[in-house]
Amino acid sequence: MRYSNLFLACLFALSTPAFGAIRIVTSTGDLADIAKSVGQNHVTVTRLTDGRQDPHEVEARPSMVNKVRQAGLVVVVGMELDGWMDSIVRTAANPRVLPGKLGYLDASVEIKKLPSRVNPNAPGVGDIHKSGNPHYWLDPMNGLIIADEVRDRLVKIDPENKADYDRNYEAFSQSIRSEMVRWRASIAEVKDLPVLSFHSSWDYFLRAFDLRNAGTVEVYPGMGSLGVDLATLKSKINRGDYSVLIYEPSQAQANVQLFKHLESTRLKLTPLIPSVMDGSPANTYKNLIGHNVSALKASLESAR
Ligand SMILES: [Zn+2]
Repeated sequence: MRYSNLFLACLFALSTPAFGAIRIVTSTGDLADIAKSVGQNHVTVTRLTDGRQDPHEVEARPSMVNKVRQAGLVVVVGMELDGWMDSIVRTAANPRVLPGKLGYLDASVEIKKLPSRVNPNAPGVGDIHKSGNPHYWLDPMNGLIIADEVRDRLVKIDPENKADYDRNYEAFSQSIRSEMVRWRASIAEVKDLPVLSFHSSWDYFLRAFDLRNAGTVEVYPGMGSLGVDLATLKSKINRGDYSVLIYEPSQAQANVQLFKHLESTRLKLTPLIPSVMDGSPANTYKNLIGHNVSALKASLESAR
């Protein structure tokens, strides 16, 4: 009897994937939180960056290569935003997660992309935003597309647990959709005020909430240099062309300080968080969107 129980226990262990058996590695915290929401107890998720870092410029480290080496699924933002993942994936040489394999997911594939704000062939533009604007995860409806892509891929990798992935996706989708109604209603009263950003990270976000996008102040995306002269900007601010200027934790502090001098009752400098960040109010994907909606709303109200 003892032996047959042991035999059954062994058989069960062989047929049931271990808790968190599928190792997922993502380039950003947003992708990590969405992947965890869909995979739940069937996956272990590791993200290689968080919202404090500039996702356009990340230095590949050996520890990152090791994580990819053990992964069963790698998820990237794509559109060259996290092009630094390419060399990590190549160096790891894990045959399961090479581009084109089941274990490699470029989450931008199903996204309806917004154009880049610059001519990609202009001198000095480099590789940043060459394929359009890659900051698509900041539209919650795109968050659902990412979740759907992750669900499809997990079902292909682990078909036995399809019902779980479907159920988890539905729960995530319901939760984001019901919040979306609340978020949109909460910010609707300030939607006529013009919003200026340092970088074009907020194009999808502003569109999602019907807010007025007054453009960016960068010459080239990600380069940090300013594309407007301050005298012109000042006269536009005094004219009321902009109500807030969004900046991000990774923005060049020298530029932020420059704009601090222009801050007045007419222009509010507004720090927003572009990517899920542990230990902050934006510690999950849902909290990221909720935090940015509340922070921008408060800033726009005070600029009125
Ligand atoms: Zn960018």
